[in-house]
Amino acid sequence: AKMEGRGTCRSFEPGMDARLQERRQLEAELAEAVANNQFVLHYQPLHDAATSELTGFEALVRWNHPRLGLLAPSEFIHLSEETGVIDGLGEWIMRQACADAAQWPLPVKVAVNLSPAQFKQQGLALQVAAALAASNLLPSRLELEITESVLLAHNEHTIRTLYNLRDLGVGIAMDDFGTGYSSLSYLRSFPFNRIKIDRSFVSLMCESSESRAIVKAVADLGSTLGMTTTAEGVETEDQYRLVKENGCTDVQGWLFGRPMPASDLPAFFEAPRAL
Ligand code: C2E
Ligand code: CA
Ligand code: CA
Ligand code: CA
Repeated sequence: AKMEGRGTCRSFEPGMDARLQERRQLEAELAEAVANNQFVLHYQPLHDAATSELTGFEALVRWNHPRLGLLAPSEFIHLSEETGVIDGLGEWIMRQACADAAQWPLPVKVAVNLSPAQFKQQGLALQVAAALAASNLLPSRLELEITESVLLAHNEHTIRTLYNLRDLGVGIAMDDFGTGYSSLSYLRSFPFNRIKIDRSFVSLMCESSESRAIVKAVADLGSTLGMTTTAEGVETEDQYRLVKENGCTDVQGWLFGRPMPASDLPAFFEAPRAL
């Protein structure tokens, strides 16, 4: 899906050959895209559930492609992982997000997504430390989001890297909670600061009492384990009310703001969406 302007997507479905050719060309272009300054970070606001106060932004990468326009991460993150481009791209994302956040008028958090592939590198924690040092951003303002696929391999190197990251003083969030096979057991592998409850549960809360029960159980679990719980993908006032009632501590979603270019942030800081 190609992104048109902000958020909305359009599908293009070329035939098989064209698709293969397109993929090869995209691969070649992707290899040059960091050096060509074609990536941009958009930022989506995070809010305290109880007060609706702004608490931070999640950095979401887009590829400003010269031919295809603004591409969503689903169009290139996987390819970048397969080709190793993610190493350079991930480093650029980390540095840019820290540098941007250091300029914000309020000391709110910046959340950065880490791909499982980035954990294969040796110096991930050093890379994050360098980005913090270069930007002068307080480590407590940075939160790293990982999905459970990072812990799938469950090897010592991954766990050690997570502890090295935590020792820097940054937060670590478990992203898309509930979508994998053994989300619960991963909470045992590492003491996360935050659980982000996947949008698929939040979006069904109004019509499904099962979804409400699951969100409440995860929020209770988070509270017992000393972790904050963010409800992802809150789109309506009803969903907002339900995630609050069921104990989520933080919210994120279109109701509060869509991902926006950094140039929109000054206006957002002036007037966050009032509820
Ligand atoms: P994610 O980390 O779960 O990010 C949340 C996704 O949900 C974003 O899609 C966001 O635009 C979308 N979203 C937020 N609120 C709502 C809502 O209320 N309704 C709906 N329908 N959608 C909402 P996006 O930006 O397309 O990113 C998709 C995925 O790509 C992310 O999922 C993340 O896994 C990956 N990604 C994005 N940026 C990065 C990055 O910088 N590095 C890495 N490694 N992965 C990234
Ligand atoms: Ca995320
Ligand atoms: Ca997520
Ligand atoms: Ca997701």
